[in-house]
Amino acid sequence: MRVPTDFGGLGSAGLVGVTRSRRSRQAVLRKDGQVLELIDTRVTFPAGGLRADAEVLAVVEVDRSEASTVDPAVRGAAAEVGALTGLVTTISPFHPVDHGWPDQGPDRGTVTIDGVTVEVVDAVLGATQGVNLLTATNIPVRRGEPGWAFVVVHVLAPGSPVPVVGRRVLLEVDAPYRESLCFGHTACHIAALALNAALADRWRKPVPTDGLGHPNFDGLALVSSRIRPDGARDVYRLGKSLRKRGFDATGLSVEAVAAAANGTLARWVEAGATIAVETEGPGLTDRRTWVCDLPDGQERIACGGTHLQSLDGVAAITVDLDVTDSELTMETEVTRS
Ligand SMILES: [Zn+2]
Repeated sequence: MRVPTDFGGLGSAGLVGVTRSRRSRQAVLRKDGQVLELIDTRVTFPAGGLRADAEVLAVVEVDRSEASTVDPAVRGAAAEVGALTGLVTTISPFHPVDHGWPDQGPDRGTVTIDGVTVEVVDAVLGATQGVNLLTATNIPVRRGEPGWAFVVVHVLAPGSPVPVVGRRVLLEVDAPYRESLCFGHTACHIAALALNAALADRWRKPVPTDGLGHPNFDGLALVSSRIRPDGARDVYRLGKSLRKRGFDATGLSVEAVAAAANGTLARWVEAGATIAVETEGPGLTDRRTWVCDLPDGQERIACGGTHLQSLDGVAAITVDLDVTDSELTMETEVTRS
């Protein structure tokens, strides 16, 4: 993730949002009356984890409207059987989609319960103050809010057996799909740096720079980012506010900018890069930083996603740009070696 600098999200004032138009749906945890400890799910995906033997802490109902990333066919089936079942566990290798900045979608995979393997069709963010669990857009606070724990909610395919709280289960992530998102996410960040370099001479005022010293167009103009297998789409605003910051889009040739960015990317891929995700702790909301050493310098970006550790498996990263009066769209593609 690289949330733009002016991305507001929901502050603690967002609690007020519960009484606004925001729907608040509270799934009751643990019918035995116990409450969840206020500890974030321990996550292993930042270090590339794919399997975890975990204890079930809670079984919750997830409204299918909150499972927005689930295959429509599965959501349709869920309509017939009611809500979907979500599992909260002590530890998880699953990367959940972040409702606030949904750049990287959820991992896919399975959970094995009492010898029966069932599909995990979605992984969403949950938040609790101990008694109730809110999921996805119903979460009224931002990650890390004191008094709240953030958890991975593994959404099971409709009709799956449901484990009891306290039971151990085996969580396994679909490795090829995860890898394809790592290729896409890493390429997305590196392409953004190449775009910053290609647009550097269009700034008429000083603005914050990226780690390579170029004006951070990506950080200042990014509206949305979507990672897909071996690629990404990023949308940037080119409106009045960016013009006020000093960006001059007059006569912008997307062909020329794309050619410049692709030249930079070819040079970087040829030279190679080392990439790491630094973590401040094992919890879901502990700060994680993407660190990439490129020939032109080191970039550090706050990012909760999954990544490659080098460009060894990459033959090429290329971008294609499209522009309207108000937006620039960058499509990034990876070719594997
Ligand atoms: Zn990221």
